[in-house]
Amino acid sequence: MRPPDQIKITTPHMGNLHLLLDDLFGRLGVEYIKPPRSSTKTLQLGIKHSPEFACLPLKINMGNFIQALDKGANTIAMAGGHGPCRFGYYGIVEERILRDLGYEFDFLMLEPFSDGAWAFYKSFASLSAGLSIRRLWKILQVSFAKGRAFDRLRKRALMVRAYEANHGDTGRALKEAEKIMAGAGTAPEIEAAAAASLRLIDSVDQDRERDVLKVGIVGEFYLLLEPFSNFDLEEILGNMGVYLERCVWVTDWIAPRRDNKIFGYPKQMIEEKAAPFLSHNVGGEGRETIGSTVLFAERGFDGVVQLLPFGCMPENIATSILPKVQQKHDIPVLTLTFDEQTGRAGMVTRLEAFVDLLRARRGGRRIIAAPEPAPDRNSCAACERKHVSSCRF
Ligand code: SF4
Repeated sequence: MRPPDQIKITTPHMGNLHLLLDDLFGRLGVEYIKPPRSSTKTLQLGIKHSPEFACLPLKINMGNFIQALDKGANTIAMAGGHGPCRFGYYGIVEERILRDLGYEFDFLMLEPFSDGAWAFYKSFASLSAGLSIRRLWKILQVSFAKGRAFDRLRKRALMVRAYEANHGDTGRALKEAEKIMAGAGTAPEIEAAAAASLRLIDSVDQDRERDVLKVGIVGEFYLLLEPFSNFDLEEILGNMGVYLERCVWVTDWIAPRRDNKIFGYPKQMIEEKAAPFLSHNVGGEGRETIGSTVLFAERGFDGVVQLLPFGCMPENIATSILPKVQQKHDIPVLTLTFDEQTGRAGMVTRLEAFVDLLRARRGGRRIIAAPEPAPDRNSCAACERKHVSSCRF
């Protein structure tokens, strides 16, 4: 591994992960080469150099890496993993393909925190130029708090878009809000910026009398997190006047204990909800898909949309179980499968038909101004705990 001042690191592009990483690598003094936003070109590069049977996220990741290496990156950081699905092999396969293509780079596999704090620390140690564990932990904490705040902004935007009076206002407010957040450095600044940014999104002109549908989004994490991979489905549904909540967020997914602060419901609760239908881990988000669908049904949502890459084993297991959940909890579920052959127009047609069905089903029932779930409402944006006198921030 090169000395930190010579490292030009890159990562896959996944939703707003780059905002968190930009902050983190900046604090560590490492140059971050952001992969260009994923595009058709990214996908074409990935398809060309990936095994045909690989899942869609691997192909998009490959395209991201090639574009970033061509921009001058010399180090790749990729999440490791293990379990029943193929994700644990992603990094190994991608590294081999890129070396076969003639690229020279260092490859850093970031092992999950659940493998032990020491393995996790060692993954970062090569980037942190002899920082003590304590100092590194502090940096990770502050950057992570900022990442949580970025997630909260997107979550709020999903809720507000369904009510916006003028098309596009929420998207513009979100961009402004993210700029405010990006400028925050210290923990108090992060907290102040988070509050100001949320106020900015809430200030979008809204028609709170509008009769909106409530839909939950579940499925494989990459498809949920990266808008390019799902044709920006959330914006399409939001523009149809659908209030959305998603069960997986970037910082929930990478959090040491996967504690789902942004979704707002503890992992254990989701697993308990899934248990009557699926009582063990099948990899990926298979079990979370089932548990979250039950949770959305119990919370009175009109429907659920499940997203999965073609050939995704954990989500295919969930898909085969979902009809039982639909029947028992009386909630319609639309399953959308994505690969490089999927077209946007077909997906929009299916969403329109689904929304029509939900409206017809709703009949005279009317839900106005769906409330935001409360669980993390009063917690500190910086330390994620309720403010108490011992709060260090
Ligand atoms: S969860 Fe599905 S899409 Fe994601 S890596 Fe595993 S098999 Fe592939």
